[in-house]
Amino acid sequence: MSDCIFCKIIKGDIPSQKVYEDELVYAFRDIAPAAPVHVLIVPKEHLCCLNAAKPEHQALLGHILLTAQKLAEDLGVKDDGYRIINNCGENAGQTVFHLHFHLLAGDTFSRLV
Ligand code: AMP
Ligand code: ZN
Repeated sequence: MSDCIFCKIIKGDIPSQKVYEDELVYAFRDIAPAAPVHVLIVPKEHLCCLNAAKPEHQALLGHILLTAQKLAEDLGVKDDGYRIINNCGENAGQTVFHLHFHLLAGDTFSRLV
């Protein structure tokens, strides 16, 4: 997706503060952090949102969650706790239409659910 900001970040065309990368995912610091630790975990494959995931993406989605757990450990927040958020679609407030998961930590968060 040539006009996708996260695809450009993954390619290195737009700078980012990379936290982790492997063959399937790229993780970087959110430019407008909502918590002391705010990392975005994105698949390298362009999917607009969770709605675009198909059964063939099952392993990728599992890999993203296990990557979140690993990054929480690497960033020193695993034991205190962290929150994973995916905003899917307009009503959820999604603003960048390349699937991503927010890893938030370093603070306590009010509960929505
Ligand atoms: P969402 O609102 O769930 O779609 O999340 C999109 C996130 O991307 C927001 O938290 C933005 O702050 C973040 N963001 C947008 N542009 C960049 C960028 N160039 N580098 C890092 N984070 C970004
Ligand atoms: Zn993209």
